[in-house]
Amino acid sequence: MVSVERTRAEVLDGRTLAEQIKREVAEEVLRLTGIKPCLAAVLVGDDAASAVYVRNKVRACTEVGIDSDQRVLPAATTTEELLALISELNQREDVDGILVQLPLPKQIDEALIIEAVDPLKDVDGFHPTNVGLLAIGRPRFVPCTPAGIIELLERNKIEIAGANACIIGRSQIVGRPVASLLLQRHATVTICHSRTRDLPSVTRQADILVAAIGRPAFIRGDYIKPGATVIDVGVNKITDADEARALFGNEADKRLEAMKQRGYTLVGDVHPAEADRVAGRRTPVPGGVGLLTVAMLMRNTLQAAKARRGL
Ligand code: NAP
Repeated sequence: MVSVERTRAEVLDGRTLAEQIKREVAEEVLRLTGIKPCLAAVLVGDDAASAVYVRNKVRACTEVGIDSDQRVLPAATTTEELLALISELNQREDVDGILVQLPLPKQIDEALIIEAVDPLKDVDGFHPTNVGLLAIGRPRFVPCTPAGIIELLERNKIEIAGANACIIGRSQIVGRPVASLLLQRHATVTICHSRTRDLPSVTRQADILVAAIGRPAFIRGDYIKPGATVIDVGVNKITDADEARALFGNEADKRLEAMKQRGYTLVGDVHPAEADRVAGRRTPVPGGVGLLTVAMLMRNTLQAAKARRGL
C-alpha cells in the first residue's frame, strides 16, 4: 500500500480578500458623485485593544474614501452622556454610520446604547431591529464579522447549501448571526456552547466549523472532521514561548521572534498545528476573519449612505 502523507490545510487568506472588498467599496464611493459617506466611531475609555480596533477602522475609512468622525470619551462617561452623543450623531445629516466600540465600561448600560443608535445608521447590525430582520431572513445591516465569514466562504467557493455547519459560540456578535446566515444559505446548522455535551463528537460532524469561543487553541485536531473548512474567529494573546512552540509547528520561529519584539503573539480558538493536519482549509490568526470584519464595516457604511439617500 502506498502511504499518502496528509498535506497541510489550505490557508484561507483574509488579507487579500479584505483588500479586494475595500477596493470594491472605494470604487463605488468614487461613483457616488457629490456624496461622501461618513462613519462616526465612538470609543469610550482607554482599553488598548479597543483603541487599536477603532484606529484600524478609521484608517480603513481613509483607504476607501469614507469620512470618519472619531469621538473619544473618558472611561468615567455615564450612560446619559453617551446617550446624548448618540442622539447628536443620529440627528446629524452628514453621518451615515455610527459605530460604538464594545465592550463599554461597566457603568454604561450597553443594551440601552445599542438600542439608541438609529437602526438606519447601525452599521454594526446590533440594534434589535436589525437583529430581527436578520432572524426573519430579510437582513439589512449584517454584523461585520459574520458577514465577513460568509464572504470568505462564498468567494472561496466553499459549498454551504446542504453542508453540516457547526458554530461554537452563541454570542450576539458572532455565533448567532453566523448561524442565521448559514441557515439562510441552506446549511444544516448546529450551535454549540459551554453546556454542549461531548463537544468533539458534535463538532466532528461539521463540514464547516466556526469557532467563536475566546479560548486559545481550544479546538484540537480531534474536534475536526478530516477535510473540513475551519473558520477561526478567536483572537487570544499568548506570552509563553513553550506554548507558542507547541501551537505553531513550522511557523513557531516566526512567532517566537514576534513574541520577543512585542511580548506576545496571537492565536485563535483553533490549535493551528493540529488543524493543519486534519482540516481541508482554515483561516489563520492573524490574517483571517479579523481583517474581513473591518472591510465589511466599510461596506455596511457605504450601504447606509446609499440607503439613506434612496440609492
Ligand atoms: P463571547 O460573547 O464571550 O461568547 C463566547 C461563546 O463561547 C459563548 O457562547 C460561550 O458559551 C462559548 N464557550 C465558552 N467556553 C466554551 C466551552 N468550553 N465549550 C463550548 N463553548 C464555550 O465571545 P464573542 O464575542 O463571540 O467572541 C469570541 C471570540 O472571537 C473572542 O476571542 C473574540 O475576541 C473573537 N472575536 C473576533 C472578532 C474578529 O473580528 N476577528 C470579532 C468578534 C469577536 P455560553 O454562551 O454557554 O457561555
